[in-house]
Amino acid sequence: LQEEMNKLTQIKTVSEIAASISHEVRNPLTVTRGFTQLLRDGSLSDEQRNQYIRLSLEELDRAERIIGDYLTFAKPSIENEEVLHLDKEIKYIVQVIKPYATLNDITVEVNMEDCQYTILGEKQKLHQSLLNIVKNGIEAMERKGKISIELKKYNDLAQLIIEDNGKGMSKEQINKIGTPYFSTKEKGTGLGTMVAFNIIKAMQGDYTIESQIGKGTSFCITFPLVE
Ligand code: ADP
Ligand code: MG
Repeated sequence: LQEEMNKLTQIKTVSEIAASISHEVRNPLTVTRGFTQLLRDGSLSDEQRNQYIRLSLEELDRAERIIGDYLTFAKPSIENEEVLHLDKEIKYIVQVIKPYATLNDITVEVNMEDCQYTILGEKQKLHQSLLNIVKNGIEAMERKGKISIELKKYNDLAQLIIEDNGKGMSKEQINKIGTPYFSTKEKGTGLGTMVAFNIIKAMQGDYTIESQIGKGTSFCITFPLVE
């Protein structure tokens, strides 16, 4: 019963969030549409024209970031549960994130104990969740940092530790992380962690955060292992 209750409360908040996100994406689209119409005006000065184009592009970028952080979570629940090999999925994540890390002078270190890590979940949602967390780690380091990803068994759990040596978080920030739209970044969405944490919970997983200002941040994520 408790489990079902949890699921129900989760779906409620998630569908509310879905509604608010479509609103967030619609705004930039409406603004861009307006500017595009204005561009029809043949008597515009070059300066005005360039300003409308610049603002349109900024708005479209914002819509893209929101969708990017939210992408695979449009459907609230884990619907097509499958057996996943967490080690394999992490290798995939590392492959995807490497170019982005390299571009920022950041090395990605992977450490996995050699064993079977079979868990239940949905592949794309797991990818979205972990990518959002790793991406934040990279963004927390101005330049020349290191992300370390460690996977091991802990009793009947798969334990995944994602650590960066970036700028860290204050106690207050740690308390707020994961709440919709909380962001300390100029162009942040404040949706990445909310989505990531919701997916982890929907997969019966759990997470803890340790962080120190100026030292770095470490996310410890666990998923129940299955036979
Ligand atoms: P966004 O990345 O768009 O700001 P997120 O939901 O992904 O939104 O993250 C919310 C906030 O949590 C970030 O703006 C940042 O302040 C904080 N945060 C998340 N991960 C880290 C990290 N690894 N190091 C430092 N701060 C972090
Ligand atoms: Mg983010």
